[in-house]
Amino acid sequence: MKITVLAGGVGGAKFLRGLREHLRETLPDGVGGTTAEVTAVVNTGDDLWLTGLRVCPDLDSIMYTLGGANDETRGWGRLGESERVSAELTAYGVGWPWFTLGDLDLGTHITRSHLLREGLTLSEATAQLTARWNLGVRLLPMSDQPVETHVVVADETGDGAGAGTRDGTGTRTMHFEEWWVHYRASLPALRFEQHGIESAVAAPGVLEAITGADVVLVAPSNPVVSIDTILAVPGIRAALQATQAPVVGVSPIISGAAVRGMAHACLSAIGVETAADAVALHYGARRSGGVLDAWLVDDTDAALAAGVEAAGVSVTATPLWMNSVAHTAAIAATALAAARALPPRG
Ligand code: GDP
Ligand code: CA
Repeated sequence: MKITVLAGGVGGAKFLRGLREHLRETLPDGVGGTTAEVTAVVNTGDDLWLTGLRVCPDLDSIMYTLGGANDETRGWGRLGESERVSAELTAYGVGWPWFTLGDLDLGTHITRSHLLREGLTLSEATAQLTARWNLGVRLLPMSDQPVETHVVVADETGDGAGAGTRDGTGTRTMHFEEWWVHYRASLPALRFEQHGIESAVAAPGVLEAITGADVVLVAPSNPVVSIDTILAVPGIRAALQATQAPVVGVSPIISGAAVRGMAHACLSAIGVETAADAVALHYGARRSGGVLDAWLVDDTDAALAAGVEAAGVSVTATPLWMNSVAHTAAIAATALAAARALPPRG
């Protein structure tokens, strides 16, 4: 069975780990413990150059989580991390002091930057980085071309440091990570811009992974800056609309809240309510030009199913808290069951 998952960082990583667990239990004995082939198409809109290094936050979150090397307590980065190099960079006055790159994590960024400078594409560099870890999931960046999400905010926000680039129109623009990590998404976003998206091409294997899949899953990831960014890469939305595989999404919103984090600040910027039904309607039903056939909502959101069903997306309500690998495996099992329950596409 070939399963392709669209994924952002932490939410995508947790979901993929649960999916792998479910597949190891039900289809055991292959590479990575399962005979299923799982491909993750990963958002690279958060990527950036920092102190001369290419940092890919979402690819790395997934690699560390599936590799069993992530810091569960902190929720990001490497387990047993130290920050001696970052302290030196801060002493030299380079980098972002609020965007700490741990020493072990820097090993990844140095390796990736080395490979890119040797002329490898991001997909090739990712394949080489992930070969070290027995992930059981193939990680594909959405594109080999750099696409960087920037956030446009009003210029009169009273921030003394006044970060960002101004163009004289009363707004300033900053890299998504600066808005997210430094400002904790507290500056109201006017809009998101994906620099480089027009000339981006889906990375090798991405479109084939979607059109050739048995099932496509949309992970419970940030709808705006993870999933929409992937969908904005030319060709990816069309591949989702064309594939014979059922497309099943998992809501990243439970009871009107972005479970962990600040996704509401992204949703409000694009005028979408922070609600499980609103996100499904934003993705849209495949039969009317959107990308979903089925949608999983949390039990507490079961009452929202009717509106989504009316739009042509079949809804299953099930507990959606990814608070253990076993619970997340059950979510993945429900998503695959929802795919099987759909009428064949014709
Ligand atoms: P990021 O790139 O690290 O921000 O991670 P993603 O884009 O993959 O996912 C972040 C989103 O995952 C959050 O905004 C939440 O909405 C969602 N999320 C996090 N934990 C859970 C959970 O336990 N259950 C569900 N359903 N969604 C979650
Ligand atoms: Ca991210």
